[in-house]
Amino acid sequence: MASNSTTSGVGKTILVTGGSGFVAAEVLTAFLSRGYNVRTTVRNDASADKIKKSHSKYINQLSFAIVKDIQIPGGHDEAVKGVDGVIHTASPFLLQVEDNERDLLLPAIKGTTEVLASVQKNAPNVKRVVITSSFASVVDIPKGTRSGYVYNEKDWNPCPYEVAANKDSPGAVSYCASKAFAEKAAYDYVKEHKPQFEITTLCPPMVYGPSGSVVTSLDNLNTSAADIYRLINGSCKEVPETSFYGWVDVRDLGDIHARAFESPKAAGQRYVTASSGYTYQQICDIIRKDFPEKRHLVPEGTPNAPYPDVYKIDNSKVKKELGVEFKTLETSIHDMVAQFIEIEKATGKA
Ligand code: NDP
Repeated sequence: MASNSTTSGVGKTILVTGGSGFVAAEVLTAFLSRGYNVRTTVRNDASADKIKKSHSKYINQLSFAIVKDIQIPGGHDEAVKGVDGVIHTASPFLLQVEDNERDLLLPAIKGTTEVLASVQKNAPNVKRVVITSSFASVVDIPKGTRSGYVYNEKDWNPCPYEVAANKDSPGAVSYCASKAFAEKAAYDYVKEHKPQFEITTLCPPMVYGPSGSVVTSLDNLNTSAADIYRLINGSCKEVPETSFYGWVDVRDLGDIHARAFESPKAAGQRYVTASSGYTYQQICDIIRKDFPEKRHLVPEGTPNAPYPDVYKIDNSKVKKELGVEFKTLETSIHDMVAQFIEIEKATGKA
């Protein structure tokens, strides 16, 4: 089992791409708390300043590199110099864009291969690159809820490139495909270029839990946080139909990135990092029980409805090989909503 002691990373430097992101905030914490020095890429100084605030406890271990766009060839050449490992989290997670190919597919795919090329060229000490992929790269969307089916690491989203790139395809379809094409591109890169490092890819479903970043506004939350905030801000009148029957806590996911980096077993492996299945009905039930002051804004639906007969996600590989124990949905949603309420009070939205 990989160590999560506070000393396993002392003397080593890790590069995390996309440090301003919701997932990256916990990836930073996971490595910083293990003693690593962490350099993170951001697109501007304002993002760096926010991270200095949210991770002020570790300010002496943190440094920054500006990379304005992950897909620029050679864009990470300087950022990777001298590092011992790379965690690639940056990728657009947007469900509505102007141009599916330009705004989702190309940044995801080229963003990944360009990072790998910079590492191969300029970071000889790197033996492991961990890539944040997604359950979006695993799920076969047109097959729907697939009663009786159990997804695992062998499954790949089969969406054809032409469908994903089509301007008329829904953004969600294109986003999911962008993750599959980027993940496959990473494995293809390793096969073709035989770099000095091995890769590990992580496939989380919806990521929930409190944000480790400084959140100054609830109006431009990241996609998965907004997915829960809409349930308490009065904008959802009905319990929404569940889109993905799987979730993971963001703090667990940060920790899994560090375990995947440190574990020799994880070399060349793909992990589906789901805590369990869930429905929005279950989430509404949790919020209505734990936060009576919000009950009038949270759709009621059918409280305690039986769990639907839908696909399951097998998380046994990550539990067994990386020693992961997952937080419960109750804990994750409780902590997330408590933070939303604090932010509402702090920003005068309450
Ligand atoms: P966020 O939107 O919070 O973070 C995305 C990060 O990627 C930001 O740092 C963003 O920078 C950066 N980024 C996006 N496009 C570019 C670009 N073209 N050039 C440089 N940087 C870019 O999303 P999450 O934290 O939720 O997602 C992080 C990763 O986790 C992604 O790979 C996503 O696919 C994956 N994931 C997330 C899930 C979730 O439920 N949240 C579920 C499964 C996977 P900036 O802040 O400057 O825009």
